[in-house]
Amino acid sequence: MREVLVQLNGVSKKFLVPQKGFKKEKKYVHAVNNVSLEIFKGETLSIVGESGCGKSTLGRVINKILDVEEGIIKFKGIDITKHNPREMLPFRKDMQVIFQDPYGSLNPRMKIKNLVSEPLLVHSELSVKEREKKALELLDMVGLSSSHGERFPHEFSGGQRQRVGIARAISVNPSLIIADEPISALDVSIQAQVINIFKDLQERFNLTYFFISHDLSVVELISDRVGVMYLGNLVEIGDKKNIYNNPKHPYTEALLSAIPVAEANKKRERIILKGDIPSPIDRPAGCPFSTRCPKVFDLCKEKMPILKDCSDGKSEHKVACHLIK
Ligand code: ADP
Ligand code: MG
Repeated sequence: MREVLVQLNGVSKKFLVPQKGFKKEKKYVHAVNNVSLEIFKGETLSIVGESGCGKSTLGRVINKILDVEEGIIKFKGIDITKHNPREMLPFRKDMQVIFQDPYGSLNPRMKIKNLVSEPLLVHSELSVKEREKKALELLDMVGLSSSHGERFPHEFSGGQRQRVGIARAISVNPSLIIADEPISALDVSIQAQVINIFKDLQERFNLTYFFISHDLSVVELISDRVGVMYLGNLVEIGDKKNIYNNPKHPYTEALLSAIPVAEANKKRERIILKGDIPSPIDRPAGCPFSTRCPKVFDLCKEKMPILKDCSDGKSEHKVACHLIK
């Protein structure tokens, strides 16, 4: 049996829309709706979906940067849903976050060697000398040298800064790394290098990644399992091969049809979706995808489909679509 690291049960997160004037009715952005999923120890679970579908919010919900209105969040079997910041302290070290560009969070006046070991100041009692030693080890793990350690963030390229972001995250031996579009800002040639660092470190330290990306080509390279979000809902989730080779949700089919495939015989028909993504403030009744779905029928406009097992019994595959009986 695989060990569950994170469990989400029916998690929802909404944001109050600031109102102008004296309107009484409160409006909410429904960023994440009734999401249930597991993240297993040592795996990479990726979440894909277009901008604004709630991926980053889901990441922030998992590490409790945001509180939820509904649902339950468990980390290592412990219910942390209602934990306040003080109660979260013992968990902080164990869940680290990597952002798209760590530049904003790196103090420009600190040397790289001090930046990579900075989290150890808070989370360990290492001496200055021990921290320095650890900093050099960390730089080596992400493919940087000791001379890089003497430099400052502005002297680094985007790819090198992301290596620093990764080194900082792993410095405190976390179980979970939430990586929010960590390579989206990098050149394609650099992306592959950084993916390899992620994979290498995962193998060495049995890390678990919650990998957020809108890029399905990248997700295919790094994931064990993949979840697809649309308008705050998890519409499909399963083993990577099931999602990529046998997508069941019409939205997943459309997303996949847009990625170029190398082999000519695997060429897919590009599915062009009509219309825009509806506003997460005024969500459509029924299925969130019903306003754009090429396969929509009456029931879809009335009833929200729930995630159902559609697997072959061997590997995980779930989809929320009325077409799947
Ligand atoms: P993604 O990461 O998939 O692009 P987000 O999780 O950032 O999506 O956002 C989901 C929705 O929630 C969007 O409509 C976004 O505008 C809204 N949203 C995110 N954070 C906030 C916030 N702090 N306050 C208000 N609305 C927010
Ligand atoms: Mg985001």
